[in-house]
Amino acid sequence: MRAMVLQEIGKPLVFAERPDPTPARGELRLVVEACAVCRTDLHVVDGDLTDPHLPLVPGHEIVGIVDAVGEGVDTARIGRRVGVPWLGHTCGECPYCRSNAENLCDRPQFTGYTRDGGFASHVVADADFAFDLDGEADPVSLAPLLCAGLIGWRSLKKAGEGRKIGLYGFGAAAYIIAQVCLWQGREVYAFSRSGDEAAQHFALGLGAAWAGGSEQKPPVELDAAIIFAPVGSLVPAALKAVRKGGRVVCGGIHMSDIPSMPYAILWEERQLLSVANLTRGDAAEFFPLARQAGVRTHTTTYPLDKANEALEDLRAGRLSGAAVLVP
Ligand SMILES: [Zn+2]
Ligand SMILES: [Zn+2]
Repeated sequence: MRAMVLQEIGKPLVFAERPDPTPARGELRLVVEACAVCRTDLHVVDGDLTDPHLPLVPGHEIVGIVDAVGEGVDTARIGRRVGVPWLGHTCGECPYCRSNAENLCDRPQFTGYTRDGGFASHVVADADFAFDLDGEADPVSLAPLLCAGLIGWRSLKKAGEGRKIGLYGFGAAAYIIAQVCLWQGREVYAFSRSGDEAAQHFALGLGAAWAGGSEQKPPVELDAAIIFAPVGSLVPAALKAVRKGGRVVCGGIHMSDIPSMPYAILWEERQLLSVANLTRGDAAEFFPLARQAGVRTHTTTYPLDKANEALEDLRAGRLSGAAVLVP
């Protein structure tokens, strides 16, 4: 197999040829068709997430075709298209796993972080965390749904049923979730870096009711806001934009420090909450819904050995959709 490997935190990924991995009991192997690049991959290579399993193959928005299965896995899965997300394995026994909150498992494994991911020609995954996907669809378009889509969906559920939804940081997740919101009949208010007119244009083109800079006040009070950008100063900005009783959801795995803020902007029963990982239940809801809603993704493809360029383009904000590696 071919892979892009993180050997040392803060260093570029290194191209490597390795023997093809063998699926163990309960696992399957995929020939990777596409793997999207997520901001979390940047947090992994930069060392913001402190527990990577080095040397590591990053990548957790994987779409591929099953070409081998381990013991105990239905051989009928061979030849099918599956998607592998960030949550790669859970223990099934801890209090969280037993209370329908496997996203908070005490002994989880994460794809492309504590187990090898999809910046590679092949990857081995837990068969229970490989979701069947549409075999007819375009694998590149599907890839961003595996994290931007799933985490976005979980964030939107946490945001509640409100009609006026603010989205802070108009990258891959916001692009997908804005479409879901519009399909559900909600209004989208899109916030991006001040002066990023391309992102604002993009949001309006998609059907957003309003687009502006992150520090701007929207023309109406929002029912809820989701923050996808890893910027702590957006928390007080979003709290000021939501109505009494409104919610602010932080959708990222890592964020810069939240500045000190007056209690008054949280008061009146505003809620601030975070989203961690995903559950298999989220996937079971989201993939059919994305199909029904006709969710499109906006992607830029890179060959596998250009993974470092894809990461740098994401870091520099040069992407309006998602970077996707095609091995
Ligand atoms: Zn568990
Ligand atoms: Zn991700």
